[in-house]
Amino acid sequence: MKGEKLAKKKPELLRKKESAWLSNPAGAVQSFAEDYKGFLAVAKTERSATREIIRRLEKLGFMDIEMMMTLKEGDKVFFNIKDKSVIAMKVGKETDGLMIIGSHLDSPRLDIKPNPLYEANNLALMKTHYYGGVKKYQWTNVDLAMYGVAYTKEGVKHEFSIGEKDDEPRFLVSDLLPHLAKKQMEKTGNEIVEAEQLNVFVGNIPVKDKDAKDKVKMAVLELLNRKYGMIEEDFSFAELNFVPAGTPRDIGFDKALISGYGHDDKSATFANLRALLDSKSKNTAVAYFSDKEEIGSVGNSGAASFVLLDFAEIVVKKLGLSISPKELLVNSKAVSADVSSALDPNFPEVSDEKNATQLGFGVTIEKYTGSGGKYSANDAHAEYMNEIRKILQKNKVTWQTSELGKVDIGGGGTIALYMSRFGMDTVDAGPGVFGMHSPREILSKVDLYEAYKFYKGFFEQ
Ligand code: MN
Ligand code: MN
Repeated sequence: MKGEKLAKKKPELLRKKESAWLSNPAGAVQSFAEDYKGFLAVAKTERSATREIIRRLEKLGFMDIEMMMTLKEGDKVFFNIKDKSVIAMKVGKETDGLMIIGSHLDSPRLDIKPNPLYEANNLALMKTHYYGGVKKYQWTNVDLAMYGVAYTKEGVKHEFSIGEKDDEPRFLVSDLLPHLAKKQMEKTGNEIVEAEQLNVFVGNIPVKDKDAKDKVKMAVLELLNRKYGMIEEDFSFAELNFVPAGTPRDIGFDKALISGYGHDDKSATFANLRALLDSKSKNTAVAYFSDKEEIGSVGNSGAASFVLLDFAEIVVKKLGLSISPKELLVNSKAVSADVSSALDPNFPEVSDEKNATQLGFGVTIEKYTGSGGKYSANDAHAEYMNEIRKILQKNKVTWQTSELGKVDIGGGGTIALYMSRFGMDTVDAGPGVFGMHSPREILSKVDLYEAYKFYKGFFEQ
């Protein structure tokens, strides 16, 4: 039989691939995206994301699990980890295992050094230490907002968010003008702007005291002292971050894409949260929002900690289960909800076109991540992939597969391996993005929507 004839007779032989925009009502996709843009605008850091998630949970009747003596079917609870990570759960009829979707709340940014403030050439600046994998030159000439927590010597806590409201100042790192950049432009990309050049402008007005040294720095300290009661020493005990200021925006004549800071991983996080809130299931559904993924999931708010086990212990105790916390996790199933790198027409050379995610073609199912010979990957088993496929089919999810770039060209990981080490099967899934880890990432609204459909289907399987 000729190829064409066979293709007509047995169309199922070939994998069907078409834009997810063709199989979704545009209205549903757009209204989901509007809710996401509102979330992304306020969930800039893991702290502000945690606060926004808990705000949304409490509004819908979720209770702090620490306040509950016991748990029963129908209960909706959350577990707050250091105000930087949170686990939300809807208790269902089935309590032998949990259906867990894990995503992360932190995104690359510039953290303020322990001794940041100095003066140079009549300007006050703050020294920063970049957080996560960044292309440093991208963080110049971008309006920045300051977030975080600082305590005064007397122990008064200040939570900062400066630079988002219209009447608030912003901050910025300058880059060199092209007229004088001949030598700079001969450098490699990693050296065009070096880490120690990521110094943020914070002031220019000097104090009037003619005896004072560093008059502008003094003026900034005086201002912070007047407003917050802070002194220079307080920075050494603080946790302050500069992140891109501003709100997400629609991109393209058709408003199909969104640009914004932190799609990695607030997009998967938002789809995860909405999936949990909207799901109706006999299963016990858990949405896990972790911290510190961008620096290896370390620390006691990261997914490499034992926080899932701690949570399982509380659940077993309060539900009065007869299995151990470890058994509860072994019996669980998981999705690692994280973004993938999409095939960028401006940089096609880094992707294997046959195995790359394309914007607008649905949620990306990533059997494995990692780098080189699948190092540091959680490589999902075929048996589990078979279950995942059934969820995709049942919920009419438009899906595609992906690898993070061509083999040996780079790589990256997610929290998948930290969830699977407790024994639960895990697979990566999320929307594709362009410009990952840049101050302005791009995704397609329909991929976000398909991710939501998949996560919801997973909770409800
Ligand atoms: Mn991520
Ligand atoms: Mn990342």
